[in-house]
Amino acid sequence: MPNVAFVNGAFMPLAEAKVSIEDRGFQFGDGVYEVIRTYKGCPFSLDAHLARLDRSAAALNLPQPYSRADWTHHILEGIKQAAYPEAKIYLQITRGVAPRDHAYSDDATPTVVMTVREFHPLDRSVQATGVEAMTTEDIRWGRCDIKSVNLLANVLARQRVRQAGVFEAILVNGGVMTEGAISNVMVVQGGMVVTTPEGARILSGVTRAIVLDLARSAGVSVQERFVSQAELYEADEVFLTGTTVEVLAVVRVDEKTIGTGRPGPITQRLAESFTNRID
Ligand code: PLP
Repeated sequence: MPNVAFVNGAFMPLAEAKVSIEDRGFQFGDGVYEVIRTYKGCPFSLDAHLARLDRSAAALNLPQPYSRADWTHHILEGIKQAAYPEAKIYLQITRGVAPRDHAYSDDATPTVVMTVREFHPLDRSVQATGVEAMTTEDIRWGRCDIKSVNLLANVLARQRVRQAGVFEAILVNGGVMTEGAISNVMVVQGGMVVTTPEGARILSGVTRAIVLDLARSAGVSVQERFVSQAELYEADEVFLTGTTVEVLAVVRVDEKTIGTGRPGPITQRLAESFTNRID
């Protein structure tokens, strides 16, 4: 059964899945989500994703309807039913159905949705050459650490990316970069990996944490601090991290060439360590 959906405990074909127009996720973006991918059919870093889902839900005072064990069970079942070589699993919890009122009732029953679709990894040639990015103003709200379904600012940034024919938008706020519209961003300066610190300005990426660990274990220094837009342009290397992009070199930003214009040695080393980690 391709493209599987799961709605409030029941599996069904995606085309048959429905939620109410009074769902607060639809009306207010009052909900949280996760995106997980499989490697060789196994969900990658599932515990870290479920832990972040717990944190996001708790930050919105949203009851978490399933234990980690229950989520794991449903996710594995979804992967099995969809039977794709590689799958992208989307989890969403919203505050459920209620007559429209901004304030919510504490006893609302959450709506829980999961979809399992085929995942198409990036072409290896894209990883070999690196990608181009553009900067754009970070107009998001003040709690980007919550993986909320309120993604309008990201939607607008990604649309600009599509129109510009580049790969990702690097969000800039007050002259410093925060992260990408769908990824975290790291730069390399004099052999050191520098990236925005965890906090309300960015999503704490699961891949970000793994890559920083890999860098430290390889003896590469890591500095977590804000990087200015000028430093971004002048960096020796720039790369993105994320579930769908893994470790991906950025070789041009706003038509300025980064380093040599090819994926740099530290990016390549971390991309390779990431692949080994997956294996
Ligand atoms: N930052 C944003 C805004 C994202 O949307 C994502 C992933 O979707 C990431 C960072 C990377 O997070 P992860 O590595 O957990 O996929």
